[in-house]
Parts: sequence; C-alpha cells; structure tokens
Amino acid sequence: QKQIKLINRPAATPTKSDFKLVEAPIGEPSKGELLTRTVYISVDPYLRGRMNEGKSYIPPFELNGIISSGVIGQVVESKSDQFTKGDLVLGSLGWQEYSIANENEVQTIDPNLAPASTYLSVLGMTGLTAYFGFLDIGKPKEGETVVVSGAAGAVGSIVGQIAKIKGCHVVGIAGSDEKVNYLTDELGFDAAINYKTQEVGEALKEACPNGIDVYFENVGGKISDAIFPLLNKFARIPVCGAISSYNNEEPDLGPRVQVHLIKTSSLMQGFTVGNYSSRFEEGAKELARWLGEGKLKYEETITEGFDHTIDAFLDLFKGANLGKALVKVGDI
Ligand code: NDP
Repeated sequence: QKQIKLINRPAATPTKSDFKLVEAPIGEPSKGELLTRTVYISVDPYLRGRMNEGKSYIPPFELNGIISSGVIGQVVESKSDQFTKGDLVLGSLGWQEYSIANENEVQTIDPNLAPASTYLSVLGMTGLTAYFGFLDIGKPKEGETVVVSGAAGAVGSIVGQIAKIKGCHVVGIAGSDEKVNYLTDELGFDAAINYKTQEVGEALKEACPNGIDVYFENVGGKISDAIFPLLNKFARIPVCGAISSYNNEEPDLGPRVQVHLIKTSSLMQGFTVGNYSSRFEEGAKELARWLGEGKLKYEETITEGFDHTIDAFLDLFKGANLGKALVKVGDI
C-alpha cells in the first residue's frame, strides 16, 4: 500500500519535496483492532502547524512519520466485537490506503443519515468548529453585523450561514469573484468582499454601515487589521485561525489591536474545537437539523485519488477549495 510521510519540516510554504509517497506492507490487525480501507481523507490548514516543531495544543508530526488527519474508512477485517466488516468508521488515521486502528480510536458513522463525506465537513470537525466558535464565543444577537474571513471555506461558509439563521447582517471576505458570488448568491450573505481585488477597509465600511459586532477570525494578517477600527462596543472576536501567517518565516507584524479592544470593550478569544468535545453530539444534531430544513448548504471540493493528497493539502494555501477540501481515495 501507499503512505505519505513528512520528510522535511517546511520553513515557509510547504512544497511537494517536504513529503514522500512510500510503499509499505498493510499489516494484520490484532485483537481489539480493525483493518480499514481509506475512503476519504480530510486535508486541513491546521495540519501545517503540526509540521512545525514545538509545543502546541496538539503534538507535532514526527519527521519521517506518516501524516494523519480525519479519515473515513471502511472496515475490511475486524478483530473487535464492536465493528463488523463493511462498517464505515471515522477517526484520526494515517495518510495511507489502509490503516490498522484500535477499536477505541474510531467511531462508526451512518451513511444512511447523511453522506459519508459530511462527517468530515459540515457535520464533522469543521462544521462543529463553526457552530461552537461562533455561537459560544461570538454570541450573536438578531440584527447584529457579523463579518467572517475565509468565508467560502469549510468553517467560514458555515459560520456565515449560522449567522443568517440567527438573523444577523452577514459580510464575508474571500479570495476570488467566484467565491464572493457564491457567498451572496448561493448562501445568502448580505455582502461579500474579494480581498485580492478590493481595498478591504473601504469595502467593509460600505458593507457594514452599523459597524461590526462579531468578527469570526480565520485568516489574521492584513484582512484582520482592517476589521478592528470598525468594531462596535462589546464586539466579540472568536479567533479560530490565522492561515495568512501559517507559512510566514518571520513573525507577522501589523497595527497593534489593544487600543481598539479597549476603546470598544471588545472580547477576543482563541479556541480549538476540541474544547467542545463533550458537546459534539449537540452541535452535530443542530447542524443536521438545519441541513434537513434546507437552512444550511455545504460545498465540498473533492480531489480524486490518494496520489493527489499532497496537492489537495498544498491547494488550501492557494485558495483552490470552495467549502471543505477532501480527498476521495476509494468508493464505499
Ligand atoms: P478552508 O476551507 O477555509 O481553506 C483554507 C482557505 O483559506 C483557502 O481556501 C483560502 O481561501 C484561504 N486562504 C489561504 N491562504 C490565505 C491567506 N494568505 N490569506 C487569507 N486567506 C487565505 O479551511 P478551514 O475552513 O478548514 O479552516 C479555516 C481556518 O480555521 C483556518 O485558519 C484553520 O486553521 C482554522 N481552523 C481552526 C480550528 C480550531 O479548532 N480553532 C478547526 C478548524 C479550522 P481564499 O480563496 O478566500 O483565500
């Protein structure tokens, strides 16, 4: 079988030469283990952080070790009482065509309730990130103005739609005209800004005549800088991600935000979705309800073939994806 290893810690933007596709034996499951065939692999910006050395909320990948992320697999052989051949399972598994997983590290998913891929997208990690970060820290109120960056991506597109469900005025920031049109025409955002062609500060002033009450931060950097002068009193800023800085070789310096936070008594709080693990079921249920009611839409950019996994990951930093980026390795 094929596997993907990290062979170099990228100093800046990762390139293909930081990874290696290798051949390895599949192995045999022992008691309490399963052999799974990989069906979908989730590629995520946060994996870039795991390629660096150093302390974080999640340990770094080992050099010359197999990369791992959210994976859906189908059980090929089970030596566990809890799973049978044919079951679909979700877990944090390696970038490889087959995995041997302990029964405690995977959970079954039901493809009759929702398409399997959604357990890695709108009903999975990124949907839950949007749900908890926005509602728990953003605390939106009807009529308020919400701005979200990375708005056409997996997390951002769900944040904006939840904000519409909550009756907010919603403005998205994204990196192409296609994405901006998708946000307003398909997802019902009130306005959207292309940060690559528009002056973000000026465009925001126009799109947010009543100021900004919630800024859901996915990107950091210059886009973020443009937000702070427009914050309203008691604004909330859930800090979910800062993708614009993940590949920086030098620290990202810009205008300091403290004065804006003081002037407006605003709250800025970082979080990781793992903080909410005890409430995942509640979040997934609510997201599934909105999907069922047609209030929530989702998009997935699916790259076909295990051999293209690295490209799909690198594409995240080029903005190639609309909605959740996934790799389809095999059929169910
Ligand atoms: P996305 O689906 O949004 O994919 C990444 C997108 O980021 C790209 O499509 C691109 O869109 C945009 N982007 C890439 N480079 C830049 C840049 N330099 N400046 C601005 N935008 C850029 O990914 P996710 O929805 O999975 O993740 C969104 C953010 O949320 C990330 O920062 C991620 O790390 C974070 N995250 C945090 C979690 C947590 O628990 N705190 C959990 C999950 C995600 P465009 O064309 O618009 O540039």
